[in-house]
Amino acid sequence: MNHRTGHTAQLVQTAETSEVLIYQIGSSGQQLLLDAGVMRRFRKYRQMRWYQKEAGGQLFATLESNRVIIVEATGPRKTDRRTRFGYLPDRAAERQVIVERHAKSLHYIGDWHTHPEQLPQPSHLDLESIAECFRKSKHHLNAFVLVVVGTKRLPDGLSVSIHDGNERLALHPDVRQHLDSDI
Ligand SMILES: [Zn+2]
Repeated sequence: MNHRTGHTAQLVQTAETSEVLIYQIGSSGQQLLLDAGVMRRFRKYRQMRWYQKEAGGQLFATLESNRVIIVEATGPRKTDRRTRFGYLPDRAAERQVIVERHAKSLHYIGDWHTHPEQLPQPSHLDLESIAECFRKSKHHLNAFVLVVVGTKRLPDGLSVSIHDGNERLALHPDVRQHLDSDI
């Protein structure tokens, strides 16, 4: 990846930024989509260098009959607690954002954060946290989404899973296609 010329890298970057990731949600017939802006934010905060701390935030989505489209990934914010191997969001600030976004019909659907590892796996604490979040939140969703962003090129470096408070279902990217060809 480091051997590319600047020109080539630019072309790759352009292709990537129009990319949308699609995940099938088990056998439900539903799909989870990550839009290009969300992918850009994930890339921006990947912990590629030793001094970069974990980052993260919330995921907001529009809900269609059989599609959940994540259109915004918030954070990190200055009041989060961030270390090389830990991320604790400012939950009070996050609750406020949930209310603001809800007024715009954007639904809080889960969380994301980075890990300084190539192929990330949610930690035990991550799983406890998302399960608790699901149980405590007032919502009409069947499950919450947890995204962990590793250092490997996306989407390989992404862990995407859904959680219903008890069980975890890991999702795998389906087909890659451009947003404007399908929506
Ligand atoms: Zn974690």
